[in-house]
Amino acid sequence: MKGFRILISILFLFISSTALSSGVSIQKISEQLHILSGKEYETNIGLIATEDGLVLIDPMPGNNQLSGLNEAIQSIHNEPISFILNTHAHSDHTGGNEYFKKQGGKLIENTFNLDGFTHIKVKSHSEIDNIYYHKESNSIFVGDVFDTSWHPTFYSGGIKGFNEAIDAILNLGDDQSLIIPGHGVPSSKSSLLEFRKNTFEWTNKIQELHQKGMSMEEIMIDTQVKDIVEKFNVNNKSPFLPKKAYRRFIERTISVINNEKSL
Ligand SMILES: [Zn+2]
Repeated sequence: MKGFRILISILFLFISSTALSSGVSIQKISEQLHILSGKEYETNIGLIATEDGLVLIDPMPGNNQLSGLNEAIQSIHNEPISFILNTHAHSDHTGGNEYFKKQGGKLIENTFNLDGFTHIKVKSHSEIDNIYYHKESNSIFVGDVFDTSWHPTFYSGGIKGFNEAIDAILNLGDDQSLIIPGHGVPSSKSSLLEFRKNTFEWTNKIQELHQKGMSMEEIMIDTQVKDIVEKFNVNNKSPFLPKKAYRRFIERTISVINNEKSL
């Protein structure tokens, strides 16, 4: 009987901890700043407590996890969201907007006047990438201009737009600023610099091999190309990129290079 009761309490513990987190993980950076994330997209969702209320950045943990996200937020602050920000318009970042708007959250789009925030617009991953710097928590939300879980995706702004975006981010904050990528681990400016260096190494190498007339298949098995891609694999995932994604990354890089030549 005793064993049975222990089993029941272990089961209960297990259930209550999963119910509490609801598949949404919480990273506490400071009293003011938390980063939440769901399994489906692993988008970094920022939660910042300000004098004007709670600010939520990129609320998308997954289609079935919005109430889980809400529970996680309530477990931290127990107050409704006042403002919603998006780093860009893709659904893995905006998917929860309506859910939190219905609860009274105000979506802030173009007219930006939130105290304590600096907002700049760049063009790299998408046509409009919003960068948000919050001075008090010294955090910079950069969306998918920077990703520490995937290869770079500079398809809207090309190499030029990417470089300008990174420069603009580096101009915000200071050396201690926390850089929050769209997906993957929160990082520092030195990781961002490393990401830029690896990206240039990648685009230069692809350009060189493409100009030599190498075929897609030849580029895909080139050992230097493979080595550069592994530099983006900061969490040592194995395999890092599915073959289809790897091929597409090369194809899209070539189209960016061709596009820039024609400018
Ligand atoms: Zn994304």
